[in-house]
Amino acid sequence: MRDAAVTQNSQQLIDRLPKTRGRITENADLGKQTWFRVGGSADVLFKPENIEDLQHFLHYLPDDIPVTVLGVASNLIIRDGGIRGVTIRLLKDFAKVEALDGNLIHAGAGATDKNVAVVAARNNIAGLEFFSGIPGTIGGAVRMNAGAYERETKDVLVQATCIDRRGKIYTVDAHDLNMEYRHTELPEDWIVVSAVFQGKKGKQEEIEARMAEIQDKRESTQPVREKTGGSTFANPLPYKSWELIDKAGCRGHTIGGAQMSEKHCNFMINTGEATALDLEQLGETVRKRVYANSDILLRWEIKRIGEFLAGDTIDYAEDHITKD
Ligand SMILES: Cc1cc2nc3c(=O)[nH]c(=O)nc-3n(C[C@H](O)[C@H](O)[C@H](O)COP(=O)(O)OP(=O)(O)OC[C@H]3O[C@@H](n4cnc5c(N)ncnc54)[C@H](O)[C@@H]3O)c2cc1C
Repeated sequence: MRDAAVTQNSQQLIDRLPKTRGRITENADLGKQTWFRVGGSADVLFKPENIEDLQHFLHYLPDDIPVTVLGVASNLIIRDGGIRGVTIRLLKDFAKVEALDGNLIHAGAGATDKNVAVVAARNNIAGLEFFSGIPGTIGGAVRMNAGAYERETKDVLVQATCIDRRGKIYTVDAHDLNMEYRHTELPEDWIVVSAVFQGKKGKQEEIEARMAEIQDKRESTQPVREKTGGSTFANPLPYKSWELIDKAGCRGHTIGGAQMSEKHCNFMINTGEATALDLEQLGETVRKRVYANSDILLRWEIKRIGEFLAGDTIDYAEDHITKD
C-alpha cells in the first residue's frame, strides 16, 4: 500500500519538475546508499549535470517542493519512510579537485574529502591530511565543519560557493560562516557547490606518511568497516561523548539491530537488520541514560532526515527530562 502511494507521489512530482540535462530517478532507494544501509526512498533523486543545470532546475522548481541535499550520507540516518520532494546528489562535474597557485585547492562539493587530501599531497600541499580519514564529501565537510585530530574544515577553508533554493549563487568567505565545532552557519536551504582550501608548502612523502598514520589510527580505534555513521554525538566540551556513554553503561547497548559499538562507544552500528527507527531510538535511549548519569544532554552530530513510517514513534530524551 505504502509503495503504491510513494510511486504515485513520485510520478505526480516528476510531472511538475523543470526540464534538466541531469538525471532524475523516481522512488530512489537511498537508504541502501547510506553508510548505515538503512532508511527509505527519495520520492525523486536528482543528479544535476553541472552548476548551470542545478541553477536552472532550482530556479524553476515550484516553491512548495522540498529540497534535500546529500553527500555520501556518512553522517546521517534517513528515516524508514523516506524523503519527500527532491533529493539532490552532486556527482561527476561537482567532484573535480585541482591545485591552484599559492598552495590552494579548489574542490567541487561532490569530491570526497579523501580525494582532496590525495590531490593536495600529489601537489606537495600540506595541511589537508586530516581530510584523508573523513569518509564524506566536501559539501558535507563544509556543512558539518568536519574535522579530526585537532584540525577542522574551518582551519583550511578560504571560501565556499553556494546556491540557494531559487538558484542564486553566492561566494562566501570562510570567516563569514561562523564555523564552530561541528557547526557551520550556512542557511538551511543553501547547497555548497564548491570550496577553496588553503594549505602550505610540504613534501609529498611526508604528507603521505601522515595520511597513512591517520588511516592506521582510525582502523585501530574506530569501527570503520561496519555499517556506521561516524560519531553519533558531538563532544560536550570539555567532556568526551564516548566517556559519558561508557560511564552510563551504554557501550554495546542494543535496540533491535542497532548497537553502540563495543570498539568505540560513540559510534552506532547496524549489526545487520537494523531499521532507521532502531538507530534513532538507540541514540535517544543513550541520551536519556547519559543525562540521568551525568546531567549532560548529548547533542546529535548525526543528522536524522525524512519521514517516519506510519505508526512509528520515538521516545525522545527531552520528554523524560521535562517529566522527571
Ligand atoms: C567511519 C566514519 C568515520 C567518520 N569520522 C569522522 C571524523 O573524524 N570527523 C568528522 O567530522 N566526521 C566524521 N564522520 C562523519 C562524516 O563523514 C562527516 O560528517 C562528513 O563531513 C559528512 O559528509 P557527507 O558528504 O557524507 O554528508 P552527508 O552525511 O550526506 O550529509 C551530512 C549533512 O551535510 C549536508 N550536506 C551534504 N552535502 C551538502 C552540500 N553540498 N551542501 C550543503 N549541505 C550538504 C546534508 O544535507 C546533511 O545535513 C565519520 C563517518 C564515518 C562513517
